[in-house]
Amino acid sequence: MRKWIVLAISALLAVGLLTACSPGKTAEETSSSKVKVAVTFDAMREFVQAVGKDKVEIVNMIPDGTEPHGFEPTIKTLKQLGTARLFVYNGLGMEPWVEKAVQTAGNKNLIVVEASKGIKPIPLTDTEEIQEHGQYDPHSWLSLENAQIEVKNIAEALAKADPDNADFYQANATEYTAQLQQVEEEYARKFQALPNKQFVTGHAAFAYLCRDMGLQQNSIESVFADGEPSTQQLVRLTEYCRQHHVKTIFVEDMVSPKTSQTLADEVGASVKQIHTMEASEGGASYLDRMKENLDEIYSSLQ
Ligand SMILES: [Zn+2]
Repeated sequence: MRKWIVLAISALLAVGLLTACSPGKTAEETSSSKVKVAVTFDAMREFVQAVGKDKVEIVNMIPDGTEPHGFEPTIKTLKQLGTARLFVYNGLGMEPWVEKAVQTAGNKNLIVVEASKGIKPIPLTDTEEIQEHGQYDPHSWLSLENAQIEVKNIAEALAKADPDNADFYQANATEYTAQLQQVEEEYARKFQALPNKQFVTGHAAFAYLCRDMGLQQNSIESVFADGEPSTQQLVRLTEYCRQHHVKTIFVEDMVSPKTSQTLADEVGASVKQIHTMEASEGGASYLDRMKENLDEIYSSLQ
C-alpha cells in the first residue's frame, strides 16, 4: 500500500513540474493526432500494431528485455497511463499490478482493454502459484485461437477511442484474423498427423498453444518463470526427456539458458530458440515468430 502512495505522489509531482516548466501544450500533446496506446508487453504491442497500423502511437510499459512476470510498476508506468488514450494489457494474472496502477494514475479519459476477455482460461494446478498469481495460466496470447479474440477486443476498443477510423480498424482486424486462422489450421493438421506430442521448453508458457494443437509441454521453469529448478526437478526432467526420446530442448531469451543447455547435453538433445512474445526477441512479427515456433516444434517431434 505504502509503495502505491509513494508512487502516486511522485507521479503527481513529476506531472506538476512538467506543467510548471512549459506553459501551454507539452510536446507530447502536439506531436501527433495518432491514438496513444500504452501496452504492457510485446505480444500486446504486436496485436495493437496489426489493427492500428499508422493510426496508433504505441508505448511499451514493461521495458524490453525485462522478464514481465516479475515486473513492478514505476513512476514512469503511471505517467504513461496518465497520458495514454488506450491501455492494453493481457490479463489472466499476467499483470497483477494493473488495477492499482490504473486507479493511481487517475486518467479519466483512459480506455482500459483486457485483451484476454472472453477467452476460455486454463486453470493453474499448483497451490503456491494460485496463491501468488491467481487462478489461471496467463499465457493466452501464445494460442492462435486466443490471439483472434484478443485482436477483436483491441479493434473494438480502438474503434471506441477513434470512431472516425472504426472501419479502418475493423478491416485490419478482419485481415489479420484471417492470417492467424490460416496458420492455426495449417499447423493443427500437421500436428494431428504426428504420433509424438511432447516437447520441453524454458518456462511453462505454452499450455494454450498445446490445447490448440493437441501437444504436451514440459518445462525447466514454472508457469511464472520463478527461477532455476531444484536438483530433484532436473532429475525428473532428465528422465522425462529420455523416456520420451526428446531430441530438442527449447530455450527462451530470458529464462534459464544455461540449465537448458546442461539438460540438452545430459540427454543428447540439441538446443533451439523458442519465442514467448514476452519481449521483442529480435523484432520479428508475432506471426513470423509463431510460425518459427511451430516449425521448430514440428521438426523436433518428427
Ligand atoms: Zn511467461
